[in-house]
Amino acid sequence: MTKYIHALTALEYLLDKAGENHWRDWLRQDIDLWKSKKDVSHHLSAYGGMGSFNDVWICVQNKHNVTKGQEPWVNNLFEILKGFCFRLAHEPEKDEVVKDVNSNRYFPIFSAFKKNLSKKGMDSAINQLSMATSQLHGWRCLKCGYGETKSYDIENYLAKVLLPQHLNNAKTEKELKALVDSAFTIEFDGIGETRNHTRQTIIDSGIKIVDREGWMRPCPECGSDNTAVYRWEFSKNNFNASKDNLPLKKNAA
Ligand SMILES: [Zn+2]
Repeated sequence: MTKYIHALTALEYLLDKAGENHWRDWLRQDIDLWKSKKDVSHHLSAYGGMGSFNDVWICVQNKHNVTKGQEPWVNNLFEILKGFCFRLAHEPEKDEVVKDVNSNRYFPIFSAFKKNLSKKGMDSAINQLSMATSQLHGWRCLKCGYGETKSYDIENYLAKVLLPQHLNNAKTEKELKALVDSAFTIEFDGIGETRNHTRQTIIDSGIKIVDREGWMRPCPECGSDNTAVYRWEFSKNNFNASKDNLPLKKNAA
């Protein structure tokens, strides 16, 4: 069971560790306002509009206290906790039993869409987003079919898949803060095995792991410039091409 105040406190703790002082101070005010007046309006006013809380990205480039290796874990946990706080602010007294943190209930971004999207548009946006949460990203040569991904993208995939499970298990403020610490140290039970197994499955799926910077162009296999950003989904013990990719040319592997 997670209450609004627990999620707020964990989020404030994460922002403090990451050196995101502006929003940390904002969250401190939210905590004070909740404790003194049961007020959630200041917190909810953080979302929406340009330069809002939704636009914050915890990363090296934004000069936060994270390394490139920590980035996928800390930023993904930040995104999930933010969604929690947004959702729980609507029912702050309730103990939320979180069964599936990937549920659209926890996507703060939808507050911005609600006014502009039809029910159908909303459903398709939710489908897209939930698909994106379980995709492995990389590059593919559309001419010969050669595909590759890199360690950073694998960690991002692992963080998106594993963090929701850990968050489902963290019930108290103390456990939520411990989870924040784990995101910074990247120490989770069984992470080494899971990582090794995932990397092996990627290789077995015919995807190379190459830690290159920047674009994969030309293709290292056939030299073609016809390469594209590519996504795979895990199903039936394999990583398979997602439906939202550009098509391969005929006769490509
Ligand atoms: Zn190629």
